[in-house]
Amino acid sequence: MGLQEPPPLGAQALPAGCFDGETVIVTGGGTGLGRAIALEFGRLGAGLAILSRSEAHRQQGVAALAEIGARAIEVGCDVREPEQIAHAFDVVTRELGAPRHLINNAAGNFPTPAEDLSPGGWRAVVDIVLNGAFFCSRELARRCMAAGAPASIVNIGASYAWTGGPGFAHSAAAKAGVKNLTETLAVEWAPSGIRVNGLVPGLFPHEDESADIRAVPGRGDRRAEEASCPAGRSGRPRELGWAATFLCSPYAAYISGHTLVVDGVNWQRRTLRQPEFVPIREQLGRGAFDPSTEHAPPKRRSR
Ligand code: NAP
Repeated sequence: MGLQEPPPLGAQALPAGCFDGETVIVTGGGTGLGRAIALEFGRLGAGLAILSRSEAHRQQGVAALAEIGARAIEVGCDVREPEQIAHAFDVVTRELGAPRHLINNAAGNFPTPAEDLSPGGWRAVVDIVLNGAFFCSRELARRCMAAGAPASIVNIGASYAWTGGPGFAHSAAAKAGVKNLTETLAVEWAPSGIRVNGLVPGLFPHEDESADIRAVPGRGDRRAEEASCPAGRSGRPRELGWAATFLCSPYAAYISGHTLVVDGVNWQRRTLRQPEFVPIREQLGRGAFDPSTEHAPPKRRSR
């Protein structure tokens, strides 16, 4: 039987208009889980700003929000660049109103044995995931502190922040940094009325998955994916959106520094007897280590 299906898309747990008149920034909000999160804020009255590099991605997000009647704008921004972030926040403030909620969702990722990972690949992922989350959080905090306004931040994480992630040394280390950063910033900024929480998706397949992620062995076989979860199913993107809106809502006013895992208990699973160990090179079909090979940063995608 497994865990039950959630209410249908469009259902709302929070009161209608909960975010009326408020501006929410979602980095990487044009695709996948970021878009699903943006949609739930939009249903509750928020104005949304989608920040990312690809115009096509951002426009996908704005179009989806327009379909449900939400106010949305998109601004080009690479979260690795503090000046671009400051400029994007200026545009958002001018066109939509001062942002009071930030979802640090942007990420880059690709599987690789650590010994094949190029310095550029390592830097790109850590820069987007960890540095980007810090730069965006700092920008929001400084503006809200100056205005004496409360704010909330949700950092999208991953459960290998706790466990390590063979095949994803760069992303797992960066997400561990993000979880730690969440805890530090929550304490530092609570006196200024700024809450900082983490939100960790488990297995949440969606149509925008990158080719790199789709190439992970076993990924994309939806039936096998669902069977691999104790819940008997993967996550539905709207479930993540509901969690994010709750964490930013007044109903979570006393919750800060917490990282909420939404994964149908998948990351706690253990088997009585461990299956045979398969090294990462073998799982990725890489063959023997070749010192002349380096795995490069993920290519910029445009769909
Ligand atoms: P996705 O579809 O690959 O989306 C990533 C988004 O980040 C894209 O919209 C991309 O837009 C944006 N982005 C990448 N680099 C950027 C940069 N330098 N500056 C600004 N934006 C950038 O990913 P997803 O699967 O929806 O994942 C969303 C979040 O959930 C990520 O933090 C991921 O680590 C986490 N997560 C996902 C899963 C899952 O099952 N899907 C599981 C665990 C954790 P542009 O290309 O336009 O820049």
